[in-house]
Amino acid sequence: MRNIVDRLSLAAGILALQLLFGADAIAEWYKHQADIMGTRISVELFHHDAAVARQGIEVVIEEMHRIDAGMSPYIASSELSHLNSEASRRPIKVSAELFSLIRRSIEFSELTHGAFDITFASAGYLYDYRQAKRPTARQLQESIDLINYHNLVLDPASGTIRYSREGIRIDLGGIAKGYAVDNCIELLRKLGIRSALVSAGGDSRVIGDRWGRPWTIGVRDPRKENNVVALLPLADVAVSTSGDYERYFEEGGIRYHHIIDPKSGDSARELQSVTIIGPDATTTDALSTSVFVLGLARGLHLVNRLPNIDAILVDRFGTMHYSDGLESARNMDSSVNPSAEPVVR
Ligand code: ADP
Ligand code: MG
Repeated sequence: MRNIVDRLSLAAGILALQLLFGADAIAEWYKHQADIMGTRISVELFHHDAAVARQGIEVVIEEMHRIDAGMSPYIASSELSHLNSEASRRPIKVSAELFSLIRRSIEFSELTHGAFDITFASAGYLYDYRQAKRPTARQLQESIDLINYHNLVLDPASGTIRYSREGIRIDLGGIAKGYAVDNCIELLRKLGIRSALVSAGGDSRVIGDRWGRPWTIGVRDPRKENNVVALLPLADVAVSTSGDYERYFEEGGIRYHHIIDPKSGDSARELQSVTIIGPDATTTDALSTSVFVLGLARGLHLVNRLPNIDAILVDRFGTMHYSDGLESARNMDSSVNPSAEPVVR
């Protein structure tokens, strides 16, 4: 029923625009999806000039490939792989871009008292979720000592990074997709695009709104793939969701998944999913992973003291919890009317 109402109101809107500006003024709507960075990339945008719109989609896809080629730990020739294999022997000169994303990651480590820590990979690489493989207790014991962002030595003067111990590895999986989304949004802005959505897996950011109505992002039920537990009407913000259902296996009734508590080297299990809403996707990506590790009380406490950040948490019993900002917005306005076809993350 709502679909029909939406279509009718959309049709009425188009007619009104045509009467006002003539048919040429109507923005065209473009949508594209691709599999890059081990995840689903999607771009949706409006522009009245088809050539600009197509260029917008092209630059997004190119940028995603560029970041993947430089920052993937699975690509042997990436700058990140080179750093991981050499930096415990000597300081390695890295690009200004990689240097500053690693520095940003360390800032999130400081903010979260180590819940976010890219050196988690020193133990994280011992898991293979597809093959249901995990480290033995002994392997874990040996590698968790290496997890500590203080073991990364950054020298801004020379632009080099050194690892202070043998065996340290880093992985930017908790922040690089958000960073990529932010770069894409900037590139689209430069093309003059004023209405767009870019997402990479669970990380999304929107420019403007969607034809006078908010973009809608759905938060999926962590235990039922096709169910949505919340619909977020959004404009000019970023949203990231981290969940224990993305990559996992179960053994003896225990779920081993890809979000690792740096203290134990084991999966964080207090929550099923965390959704963060904030101004940019680098921040929401890093914070969704962080809050997942921090758990319910410490996670909400962090979110509530950060300006412009909101969160929806699903705890391990499936109960939902909201940050103070969302709690008051929910009480004030129960008549939120999002657009049709939500993008479900
Ligand atoms: P995804 O969209 O891949 O599900 P998330 O934002 O939920 O990403 O982050 C999960 C990824 O973050 C993992 O795949 C891993 O690469 C990385 N990661 C896991 N634990 C941590 C941690 N404690 N600190 C920083 N990064 C982490
Ligand atoms: Mg994240």
